[in-house]
Amino acid sequence: MTTPEPCVPLTELPKPLDQLSPAELERKACIGKVMTHTLQSLTSTFIGSGFQWLLPVALSQSTDPLWPDPGASIEKRIEVDIYGKVVRTTASMIIHKLVASSLAYPKLFIVSPNIRIEKAERAKTGRHIYEFSQIDFEARDASSKDIFTLVEKALVTLVTSLNKDLKSELDTLRYEPLRVPTAPFKVVDKADLEAEYDADGWEAGLAESIKDPVWAINIPREFYDFEDFQTGKWDNYDLFMPNFGEVLSGAKREWEYDKISKKIERDQVNKENYALLLKLAKEGKTKPSAGAGIGIERIVGWATGVRHIAETQPFPRVPGTVNEL
Ligand code: AMP
Ligand code: MG
Repeated sequence: MTTPEPCVPLTELPKPLDQLSPAELERKACIGKVMTHTLQSLTSTFIGSGFQWLLPVALSQSTDPLWPDPGASIEKRIEVDIYGKVVRTTASMIIHKLVASSLAYPKLFIVSPNIRIEKAERAKTGRHIYEFSQIDFEARDASSKDIFTLVEKALVTLVTSLNKDLKSELDTLRYEPLRVPTAPFKVVDKADLEAEYDADGWEAGLAESIKDPVWAINIPREFYDFEDFQTGKWDNYDLFMPNFGEVLSGAKREWEYDKISKKIERDQVNKENYALLLKLAKEGKTKPSAGAGIGIERIVGWATGVRHIAETQPFPRVPGTVNEL
């Protein structure tokens, strides 16, 4: 079962396993093979580059504020009381990464579940699910350029091996062959992308017009991404894939107390939720780093050419729909 041409509108949303026909179940298993290969390839590249693999946590007092971010659309934040303390479900492992890479693990990655209750109106974007997984990685003393080089190597390795080892699966799933990206990828300032495409919808315009992945840089957003207060420029990036869109966001990070503190106040984010990070920064224990998070369902969605990334999930998490499993 090949995915329909991209121009055909998305009418049906991904269904749970128990509602799939035998042919749809076969297709699901085929996507599953690409998922397994992708996880093996990406984690091997990180391990081969000296990264340690940490396991994730699900509940913490401190998690990603996801604010301000031009791409955020959160309907509800989940907070629960345990042992007399309020904890939140993991929205990303960013705060844990900053602390862990500063104190004990200079190069780390975490395959981590992220819970983001996206607005139900995002059901048909094909790019949003309300539980997804990231390969969230961070490297002490790294620059943005170091991260670009690492990610480019990881993606070229992934696509080359997918085309070699899973050719028949890709032929079955995809409308056209999967092109091996040419590194290094182009780097473009967000302001230039807004000028070239629509200021509101530049992401879609960019994804439609490129043949190779593109790094979009200098995107104002959450406090932990590095901002040069002199120039007003942000040292951060998103990676866009052709005919798909964003698959990764990352940055060089803030590590100095004064800047972190000022930015949290500026964003009107609750300082109490970041008390530990602020304490460590004040004591000079936070270290410069850079990193990113790769959306696993998005990378596999791009590789398989599915219309909706929930098709890459055994138990789909389509915004607005709750299945029993
Ligand atoms: P962010 O830092 O918020 O951009 O998240 C990191 C990466 O996770 C993004 O680049 C996407 O690949 C992925 N991601 C973010 N939100 C979602 C979502 N709602 N559904 C699926 N993947 C997502
Ligand atoms: Mg992003």
